[in-house]
Amino acid sequence: MKNVVVLGATGSIGQSSVKVARDIPGRMRIVGLSAHHNLAKMSELAREFPEAALCFTDKEAPIPEGLGDCRRVFRGEEGLVELATLPEADMVLIAIVGTGGLKPALAAIEAGKDLAIASKEILVMAGEAVMEAARRKGVKVLPVDSEHNAIFQCLEGRDPAHVQRLILTASGGPFRQSPAEALRSVTPAQALKHPTWSMGAKITIDSATLFNKGLEMIEARWLFDVGMDRIDVVVHPQSVVHSMVEFIDGSVLAQLSRSDMCFPIQYAVTWPDRVGNTLKPLDFAQLSKIEFEAPRPDVFPALKLARWAGEVGGTLPAVLNAANEVAVAAFLNGKLSFPGIWETVGSVMEEHEVIARAPLDAIVEADHWARRRAAEKLPS
Ligand code: NDP
Ligand code: MG
Repeated sequence: MKNVVVLGATGSIGQSSVKVARDIPGRMRIVGLSAHHNLAKMSELAREFPEAALCFTDKEAPIPEGLGDCRRVFRGEEGLVELATLPEADMVLIAIVGTGGLKPALAAIEAGKDLAIASKEILVMAGEAVMEAARRKGVKVLPVDSEHNAIFQCLEGRDPAHVQRLILTASGGPFRQSPAEALRSVTPAQALKHPTWSMGAKITIDSATLFNKGLEMIEARWLFDVGMDRIDVVVHPQSVVHSMVEFIDGSVLAQLSRSDMCFPIQYAVTWPDRVGNTLKPLDFAQLSKIEFEAPRPDVFPALKLARWAGEVGGTLPAVLNAANEVAVAAFLNGKLSFPGIWETVGSVMEEHEVIARAPLDAIVEADHWARRRAAEKLPS
């Protein structure tokens, strides 16, 4: 039985995590939940898990009536740290969009908790620091992102010296086949229609620009300690093969399932065990085809920007990530065009004076700088 704190419980991954807890009650117990704005959802969850401690990260939000009785309720960013270090927690599942999960992740590691990480942004920003702290404390970092969970499964028990390359699959997003000229007029409503996955707004836009795959390349670099030159991307529109590992003898292992985040979440929680559940397995007879094609980095420059950031390292990945968060929010608010997202990110990255082997405070400073510069560059 794992006692799990879910940070970002009201989001898409948060909700899938709760589904997993309902599905395998003998293996996963929810002991902490955090919400930001969605108080209605949090009230429902709080009723379903009466023992769980709660954190409302938005300090202005009024705590719904009755929730504070007979249980621990925390507030704000400090509250997330309290929740992430609860004495009864074995694992902290981080599903907060953006980098808000970084501080509680580091606090959880110091408190000896294992991490299940969905929030790729914190690994892009500070992957080296997170993995180094986890190694030092002897805690596990289990990937929830479906591609990384797949690679984790393919790598288990293998000698790292036998690995040739990691191959991340990408759905290609809603504009996989669109001509480059058509991207200028893409609206938020069009970009929010993902062909295969149902997810939160930010990652859905990232999937449309392919920044999601770019972030995932850097995420893989840190999770699996592999150089960027050994991380590749292939487009696979059906999202059934979640990623692959090629070995030095030319053999390739892949992990497959239906596109439902409950699969990787459950494996992160029950690892190293496999546990039966009510999830529908793949029906191969129903799969009409599985296709692969090369990505189009000239049409989707996010892939090139991410490779550049990952290769240079230091503060540059944090800058890419922060500028992207600002640009995506501006696109969703109708203040920036779709190509404006990568144009803004690229231009902030070009201005940045990289600090190599940056300590965490320099990374945080670079993140703040990039947010300011990206905001200044937005059309008025
Ligand atoms: P959602 O937007 O659906 O949910 C985000 C969660 O974070 C919500 O619980 C939200 O609270 C909370 N939150 C938002 N802002 C803050 C803040 N400033 N401080 C604290 N909490 C905050 O996102 P997803 O679930 O789609 O994604 C979460 C993370 O998981 C992202 O990093 C994403 O890249 C990653 N991921 C998601 C996948 C998916 O299938 N959705 C797949 C792989 C990775 P509230 O709703 O109460 O405001
Ligand atoms: Mg993914």
